[in-house]
Amino acid sequence: MGHDLNALPIAEADHAAIERSTREIGQYIFSHLADQHANIFERRWWDDRIMAWAMRDESVKVQMFRLLDVLPMLDTSESLTEHLHEYFHDVSKFLPTPARLALAVAQPGTLAGRAVAAAGRRNALAHARRFIAGTNTQEVLVAAMRERKLRRGFTLDILGEAVASEVEADHYLQAYLDLIAGIAPTVNSWSEVPEIDRAADEVLPRVNVSVKLSALDSQFDPIDPVGTTERVGRRLRDLLRAARAARSFVNIDMESYKIKDLTLAIFRQIMAEDEFREWREVGIVIQAYLKDSEADLCALADWARERGTPVWVRLVKGAYWDYETVLANSQGWPVPVFEQKWETDANYERLTRLLIAAYPHLRPALGSHNIRSIAHGLAVAKHVGLPNSQIELQMLYGMADHLKQALVNMGYRMRIYMPYGELIPGMAYLVRRLLENTSNDSFLRASFTENVSPEIMLMSPWETGMRATASNHQAPSENSSPAVIAAAVSQADDFRNEPLQDFSKAEHRQEMTDALATVRSEFGRTYPLVIDGQAVGTDHAIESIDPSQKDRVVGVVASASVDEALSAVAAAEGALGQWSKRPVEERAEFLRRAAALMRERRYELAAWEVYECGKAWREADGDICEAIDFCEFYARLAIDMQSERTGRGERGVDVPGEENRFYYLPRGVTAVIAPWNFPLAILTGMTTAALVTGNTVVMKPAEQSSVIAAKLMEIFQELGLPPGVLNYLPGPGETVGAALVEHPNVAVIAFTGSRAVGMHIYRRAAETSGQGAAPLVKRVIAEMGGKNAIIIDADADLDEAVLGVVRSAFGYQGQKCSACSRAIVLDKVYDQFLSRLVEATRSLKVGPADEPGTSVGPLIDAESQARVLDYVRIGGEEGRAALAVDAGPLAQQGYFVGPHIFADINSGARLAQEEIFGPVLAVIRARDLDQAIEMANSVEYALTGGIFSRSPANLDRARREMQVGNLYLNRPITGALVNRQPFGGFKMSGIGSQAGGADYLLQFVIPRTVTENTMRRGFAPS
Ligand SMILES: Cc1cc2nc3c(=O)[nH]c(=O)nc-3n(C[C@H](O)[C@H](O)[C@H](O)COP(=O)(O)OP(=O)(O)OC[C@H]3O[C@@H](n4cnc5c(N)ncnc54)[C@H](O)[C@@H]3O)c2cc1C
Repeated sequence: MGHDLNALPIAEADHAAIERSTREIGQYIFSHLADQHANIFERRWWDDRIMAWAMRDESVKVQMFRLLDVLPMLDTSESLTEHLHEYFHDVSKFLPTPARLALAVAQPGTLAGRAVAAAGRRNALAHARRFIAGTNTQEVLVAAMRERKLRRGFTLDILGEAVASEVEADHYLQAYLDLIAGIAPTVNSWSEVPEIDRAADEVLPRVNVSVKLSALDSQFDPIDPVGTTERVGRRLRDLLRAARAARSFVNIDMESYKIKDLTLAIFRQIMAEDEFREWREVGIVIQAYLKDSEADLCALADWARERGTPVWVRLVKGAYWDYETVLANSQGWPVPVFEQKWETDANYERLTRLLIAAYPHLRPALGSHNIRSIAHGLAVAKHVGLPNSQIELQMLYGMADHLKQALVNMGYRMRIYMPYGELIPGMAYLVRRLLENTSNDSFLRASFTENVSPEIMLMSPWETGMRATASNHQAPSENSSPAVIAAAVSQADDFRNEPLQDFSKAEHRQEMTDALATVRSEFGRTYPLVIDGQAVGTDHAIESIDPSQKDRVVGVVASASVDEALSAVAAAEGALGQWSKRPVEERAEFLRRAAALMRERRYELAAWEVYECGKAWREADGDICEAIDFCEFYARLAIDMQSERTGRGERGVDVPGEENRFYYLPRGVTAVIAPWNFPLAILTGMTTAALVTGNTVVMKPAEQSSVIAAKLMEIFQELGLPPGVLNYLPGPGETVGAALVEHPNVAVIAFTGSRAVGMHIYRRAAETSGQGAAPLVKRVIAEMGGKNAIIIDADADLDEAVLGVVRSAFGYQGQKCSACSRAIVLDKVYDQFLSRLVEATRSLKVGPADEPGTSVGPLIDAESQARVLDYVRIGGEEGRAALAVDAGPLAQQGYFVGPHIFADINSGARLAQEEIFGPVLAVIRARDLDQAIEMANSVEYALTGGIFSRSPANLDRARREMQVGNLYLNRPITGALVNRQPFGGFKMSGIGSQAGGADYLLQFVIPRTVTENTMRRGFAPS
């Protein structure tokens, strides 16, 4: 059925009546609010002072929230005072005088320091207690009883750390089971409070819990709906059974957008099972800030009708607005939330009407503290004759108490959302609440802190929107003037990274599944060499196989010999003259068109990577995006570089009588020798950098990824690249690679791969330079290995650190040059970190790369498998195997090695020094940060590195002292993006400018200056 306003029992003419009634109800509520002014003797007065003071300056607010966030990890007064100084030093001029003075005297280790630390901690805890109902069942029962005395019901939410492992998911479930078992007998024996325990004749459950589905599965991931549903379902059914037996209501909370569809789907699936189909005491949340929410609510209504038993819907606006906005912008995805506050409010009202119209299949619970939103809901209910008892109002613990009481007094059922639990997860919740309450758009802030009049607060959202739009038009922003927009300086400035695929969308998963099937149907095809535009067959062939299933041949690729290498170089030399003379814009256009073709074929190309290189879906997709980025970025960069305005091209410093011109010339024939681990991206990056700067290329891919390289060749052939400009020459490195490196006419060798091969190439290139008819010094660009470390500081956010290390160490089975292979952990958090890390890693799914739920796929080949297993043996000798996942039968089916973690490794041990290129992580204990940094730097490589810390001073030290090309603070150390994180290291990690960065192309050109004396007998042009 259709779900528009016309389908409601509200005629258009009635909207005016509802609007009138909304304002009347709103005015009534405002005038009946309990005394809202706290007095100086109350805790709330102090809290309000602190908030008002923090809100005055954005930088103070940010620092205060950051301090609250790290506070649970600061268990000594020294660490707390140190952080106080680090956080507030730069913003101290904005602090009120008493706070500034206190900070000045509070030095770590002094009496004053201890006193200030103690006061700070007390204050923060008190603040947390305002929003968190208790730390254990007893305290929560007391809080619940207090609410009942005020005729308010409750729903309990257990605050949890991010669930990183299956053990933690089990704990979370158990905590709910214990909670229900612990309180139900007591609560059910309390005497009845009809206002909250009944809805007309219906007896409502008194125990009511709110649950987050993501906490019921450590691998909750919409890319794998089937696996996730299966795992969540197992735990959720246990919870539902226990709840039903204890007469408890269960509400499913809603979290971030990326898991919204799957959360709704799981709810619908389980609640439609025979066992639960007739159970009424369940509910779910709809977030009105989401643009999808109307469609979701309508689908839910249809489903409930079909189910035949109603469910409750808690309608909220949504708690993750900032997160969703930042995430979507940084990923280049459409923003899923409304971007104007009034739009969210308007949608909330639209959904309220839909929800009430869907009664009795859906039962409305309005979760809001906004008097306008609530009044509108009550007005609609009244208008359609829905009795008060059939609607529920819900608010958060510790917020808007005077409002709650006014509504209770008006005869509405009020339920309080009461989070409870330990302080560490509690702080994250506290910060969310404070962020919301201090936001410029918050209803509570505007009406109660800034005393905006009720008339304005009660305006309809549309009216508010119109006023906002009108005032925006009166004062156009200076920044948006056309002159400013036109002044964009360079092509590269408008480069945007290709957005990764959002696999939470069913249509994208379907396209990937289809592409995998198509690619499977093309297995076993043959691919010839391409030299001078001609397909060339060979006597020998490379069988490229699927590392997930080694009896499966992905493709049969011609394997070049030295003779063919010589012809390929000759072809490239032949094409050089014409190609290098083409205007840079034309060469760049080939790259742009290649990017467009890759975009069209992105699923198919990704599918080839899944099968040929054992990349999981997201990893494969990321590689295609990076290849597209290289094309788009280098195309722009090359044009900029040649342009007088943005680069050095043709520009010269002229003085009277002398004209100087500066040019870039291509270097000549370039041998591109690429690895298999980023099979399209790295190959495309090196190749296009050479091509766009006017060089011609012989492309020698790794044998293990020759089919994907053939696809790149196909793309350039389809674009009509002239013959010889790009040649495709798969073959063994020892013969074909060596022939290219040593060829006297090869001017540039762009290599990415192992240190041993890189150094060999460097040496041979030097030895064979200067031997051709036109002698030249070969230019070598070599990106080599890494032995990358992440430091875990004593104050790190362990939720983030555990997940960051897991992703960096085991993503693509540790086969990225950027992968983390050492975790250097400060003594204080070592044990805690290690045990969470081990469990989180144990929970990863090892499996074939084409299964969407796979986190750890196969290694690339038998040689890798044997080498990594050898390191596993060495790890056992050098340390303690904290985790050794056996890949089981998969190790025979494909080249699988399960993830391994070795603890207590000495920083000088082989496991901590040698590049392994597999899922093996060494965990090293450090006394303090000095030692941790020293250990991190004590390897021969300097590629990537990272630190998880919440101390600004320590982050600064890492910035200065950690010797790596790419340093990451408080995030995983893999996944560099073109332009945003140009990539490459130094020491034994390589020579050359960072790939995907502004200087990269300079390595492929020769700078040349022409100076002319323009003076003729004392006359010079001006
Ligand atoms: C009982 C209860 C349970 C809840 N459960 C959940 C839950 O499961 N999941 C969840 O996500 N939230 C939940 N919330 C939180 C809720 O989503 C809101 O964050 C909170 O209630 C504030 O909304 P408001 O209507 O009270 O205040 P208002 O001040 O009217 O609205 C604030 C809200 O407007 C939105 N907003 C702010 N700025 C903008 C902008 N520039 N453009 C567009 N929109 C903007 C945001 O969603 C923000 O939270 C719950 C709230 C309650 C009361």
